[in-house]
This record gives sequence, C-alpha cells and structure tokens, in this order.
Amino acid sequence: TKHFPVRRTGRDLVTGRRRTVHAVDDVSLELRRGTVTALVGESGSGKSTVAGLLARLHPLTAGEIRLDGAPVKAGGGRSFRAYVRRVQLIFQDPFASLNPVHTVRYHLTRALRIHGRAGSGEAELEENLTALLDRVQLTPAHQYLDRFPHELSGGQRQRVAIARALGADPQVLLADEPVSMLDVSIRLGVLNLLKDLKDRLSLAVLYITHDIASARYFADTTLVMYAGRIVEGGESETVTQHPAHPYTQLLIASAPDPDRVVAEAEQEETGSGEPPSLIAPPPGCRFHPRCPKAMARCRTEAPPRFDLEGGQWAACWLYADGGEARHEPRKESA
Ligand code: SF4
Ligand code: MG
Repeated sequence: TKHFPVRRTGRDLVTGRRRTVHAVDDVSLELRRGTVTALVGESGSGKSTVAGLLARLHPLTAGEIRLDGAPVKAGGGRSFRAYVRRVQLIFQDPFASLNPVHTVRYHLTRALRIHGRAGSGEAELEENLTALLDRVQLTPAHQYLDRFPHELSGGQRQRVAIARALGADPQVLLADEPVSMLDVSIRLGVLNLLKDLKDRLSLAVLYITHDIASARYFADTTLVMYAGRIVEGGESETVTQHPAHPYTQLLIASAPDPDRVVAEAEQEETGSGEPPSLIAPPPGCRFHPRCPKAMARCRTEAPPRFDLEGGQWAACWLYADGGEARHEPRKESA
C-alpha cells in the first residue's frame, strides 16, 4: 500500500528562483501482489516521479509509503533496507542501465551478492545465475552469461535488467516504460514475461506507460495520470473500454489504433494542447483548459473522486450529483 502526497523542489524557469514544484500531488495508490497496475499518462504528467518516489530515488516531502501495511521510515533503518530490496525498478533504456564494460555474469552476480543471495561457493552461484536467466527465458544460460550488453539485442538486454531486479527477490517491480525503446516486434514478448513473473512470483507490478492500449492488454488495474494527479482508475477493461474522465477519453480517441495490442508509434503528445506546467498548474480541474466538456465550476474547484460502477472512479465534475454521467455515481469520496 502506498499513499503519498508529494512535492519536488525545482527551479522556476522564468525567475530562476527555487520553488516547490508539486510534481505529484495528492496521489494515492495501492499495488497488490499478483497484479499489474498500469499508470498511464503523457510525458510530464508525473508518472515517472511516482516510480522514483516509490523506488526512493526522490525523497518524499509529505505522505507515506507502506509495505505490507507497515510504514517505511526514511533513512538507513531496517524497514528502509528491507524496502529497498523488496522494491526493484526497471528502466526504460536497458542499455543505459547496464554497465557496458561488464558481462551479464558480472551484473547478475553483483545483484545476488548485494542481496546476500549468491549462495556459498562457485557451484551454487552458477546454479543461482542459471535460475535467474531461466526466469527471464534466456536459455541456455551459458550462452548469455559471458556476453557484454552490446552483444545482446534490446529485448535480451531488458531481460537481463529484469533478471538483475529479480536477483533481489523483490515483491514489487516498478517498470517505467519498460518496452517503449524496444522494437515493436519484441515488446509483446517482454510484457508477457512480466505478466508471467507477476503470476509465478506473485509480484506487484507497476507498469508505467504513455500507451493506454498496452495497459488494457497487460494490466489488471489502470490508473490515468494528468498533471501530477490521478484522474481515473478502475479495472483496465472498464477504463479502456468505457473511459469516464474526458482526459482518458481523449487519450483513447487519439491512440493510433485502439485495437492494437502494443503501441506501434511513440505517442508522447496526445490530442490538442500541451500538458500544463507543474510549476503553476491551472486552478480547479487541471484539465479544464483542454477539456471539451468544461463547466464554470471546473475552472475554480478541483473535482474530488466520484465512485462509479464496478470500482471505477473519476475525478471529474460530470459525475457529481448524478450529473450528465453515463455512469450513475453512487457516492462521493473526497
Ligand atoms: Fe472536464 Fe470539468 Fe471534468 Fe475537468 S472536471 S475533466 S474540466 S468536465
Ligand atoms: Mg518518464
């Protein structure tokens, strides 16, 4: 369980003064073992910041993170060290995350040693290395162990990065755009691998993506992020087939082919207009300058979450008081 309103300090580009940027604001999410949660948004929406906060790459300035219900305290305490081991991050660019002068064997051995899982003796280490590569379907292991990153394909490199993360025996995998730099033809294979690992190892996977079509295919739950806030959430099938929030509707309408399984094109920009600056986000609903359905109150009052059917919810005034909503809201939770 993670709950954390967060601020990040940045430099104002206009005045040069330091000020607090609410890169992520009032965000609350829960990752469950054995499920994939997609966090979908444009670049600049704050979705990578969420991953960085969960991986403790950025400090939390407010809010808290809980693992198995227990709050994780900052600083080198026991709960913090356990957390850092249990929560592993997989980056977008596997080439950048692997050291080019070291072999696969080096990377994986190091991960196992750091986490005290290398075993005693050479034979046991070799067994553990082979098991890790088996997990990510790089077999036979001896064909891969002594290769350097540049001797692997992009997909193989990402599998090595995943194997390295598994070396820590994690409960949570944070995958930030894990396939967006890979050839289209191999994306599905890597996503299927993550899906398989989530089932077999009962991992909680946070899948961060700008591609809502892949969220439908790959994630159990989908959360949609806009300008530092989560604006809609629910089962992936529902959110992608019956989006409630106008921003989600725009994302889906502007996806090049809604039926495709994995994005063919990198669609970092979506629909009309640009996502707003997080230094001075619009008042009220942050989406109102781009929203075709904006009403007067949208410009001044930030919408709370309105619960819809089947666990779906949207932070949008359309769903207040029964509204013009397609869904009948049952209750309001602010
Ligand atoms: Fe559009 Fe208003 Fe809903 Fe925001 S709250 S998405 S501006 S209708
Ligand atoms: Mg990013």
